[in-house]
Amino acid sequence: MPPATLARPCALQVLRSVFGYDSFRGQQQAIIQQVIDGRDVLVLMPTGGGKSLCYQIPALVKDGVGVVISPLIALMQDQVSALHQLGVKAAFLNSTLSLEQVRDIERQLLNGELDLLYIAPERLSNSRTQALFGRCNIALFAIDEAHCVSQWGHDFRADYLLLSVLHEQFPQVPRIALTATADERTRQEIITRLALENAQVFISGFDRPNIRYRIVQKDNARQQLLSFICAEHAGDTGIVYCLSRKKVEDTAEWLRQKGIRALPYHAGMSHELRQKNQHQFLMEDGLIIVATIAFGMGIDKPNVRFVAHLDLPKSVESYYQETGRAGRDGLPANAWMAYGLQDVLTLRQMLASSNADEAHKRIEYHKLDAMLALCETVGCRRHALLAYFGDAQGSASVAGSRTPGATDDLSAGCGNCDTCLEPVETWDGSIAAQQALSCIYRTGQRFGVTYLIDVLLGKNDERIRQFGHDRQSTFAIGKALDEKQWRSVFRQLVAKSLVEVDFEGHGSLKLTDACRPVLRGEQTLMLRKDAQIAKTKKERYEK
Ligand code: ADP
Ligand code: ZN
Repeated sequence: MPPATLARPCALQVLRSVFGYDSFRGQQQAIIQQVIDGRDVLVLMPTGGGKSLCYQIPALVKDGVGVVISPLIALMQDQVSALHQLGVKAAFLNSTLSLEQVRDIERQLLNGELDLLYIAPERLSNSRTQALFGRCNIALFAIDEAHCVSQWGHDFRADYLLLSVLHEQFPQVPRIALTATADERTRQEIITRLALENAQVFISGFDRPNIRYRIVQKDNARQQLLSFICAEHAGDTGIVYCLSRKKVEDTAEWLRQKGIRALPYHAGMSHELRQKNQHQFLMEDGLIIVATIAFGMGIDKPNVRFVAHLDLPKSVESYYQETGRAGRDGLPANAWMAYGLQDVLTLRQMLASSNADEAHKRIEYHKLDAMLALCETVGCRRHALLAYFGDAQGSASVAGSRTPGATDDLSAGCGNCDTCLEPVETWDGSIAAQQALSCIYRTGQRFGVTYLIDVLLGKNDERIRQFGHDRQSTFAIGKALDEKQWRSVFRQLVAKSLVEVDFEGHGSLKLTDACRPVLRGEQTLMLRKDAQIAKTKKERYEK
């Protein structure tokens, strides 16, 4: 009998008898089958999606031991104890063990007594380990947290580069690489560095249908946050993310003054206070934690009803991960963010002035650009988010039922994000953009947004007269828009990279090559109509 027909009931039996679950989730079964059949796979699934079973079950179904490479010692220990509770013969090899314990595990391994062996990546370079593997029957290699092999990601571990030896030394052993990070670049890098060119790639489960995504334009963000909480989340548990420690402190204090139960959390606080606040957040309901990104690793509170961002995250991955802490219980939850021009400028400047090397900076710029594109999209936010992760299944489940091979109707939208619920209007911003770009150019590409807007509005200002910019052709040319509207235009120009920020020039704006077609009137530029922008004035610009 071919293994495919034999193995299927076995995997299901193991799922039921060992793990006590009725059925597979998402693509688990297909993934498990591939591994049982001896093929390599790459699995991209968010945290909590059920990756572990994808290698645990094949390891139990197949002869031999499943070797799991995992970088996190604490998680390794947790998994092994959980497996012991289920009666699975599992062990780990890492630096916490005594030589005696190591010997004991090696003995069990050689006697074929283990179904699963968790091992830290650095041990693979060890000749002792390699000799050991050569002498036992290995069912599969599972490479957990596979994105650690990627320099494009933020968790790079040099030890992971050693993992290519697995394939060279044991070409007949199937490999399953798993990660919750799924952007295209990371994926490509995993495939290349681990020699997984022949692996089938499974991307799934990134959709969180109960989370409603909303990104509003900043206009006194703190007040906007308060209104949002009062209107929709009075007495709810939530997380508010801020970029700086000071803003965390200030925002928590301000919310408390407004009668809202809020606690701060950031890495600058004492360990005791952080632990205390985190503990209180986990144990009590109806508490809001205001935090930097230091908060959240391993936080698994099911009834977080909202995650709010007062500052823009650096990447779509961060946004996804942070908003993903809302609604773990599957009930409706909100991901709310206030975003404005200053966010773009601040993050671009932070990047520009960081000590990272050029290649790394370019990567970070790309990530930020993708995040900005998500903020500025006029289409469905969920589709944009899932498209970033390449999650075809997710977008299909959003669009409705899916038959294999059917094309998804992406135009339908998810119906549970701001742009779906209240479609964004756009306007022809070509002329406004030309005026803004000319203004930057004519004032010598040496000024920041506030000054440029003053020139466009023809403000009576000493500094403008000193520079002689009141005699420039762009002076007072932009009176058809008000200040807020101009900020919206500049924000979108920066977000679309038609304009860049010169951090050495204290945030002065410069033209990029990409702006030329717009400046020359060869390209129409459609802009978002931000909710706060009054219609009347802008309509004068529309053709
Ligand atoms: P990941 O490694 O992707 O973060 P886990 O493997 O830890 O996720 O799984 C998350 C949770 O989902 C675990 O509690 C696991 O037992 C549960 N789970 C996984 N697969 C199934 C399934 N088919 N049916 C029910 N529960 C499942
Ligand atoms: Zn939508």
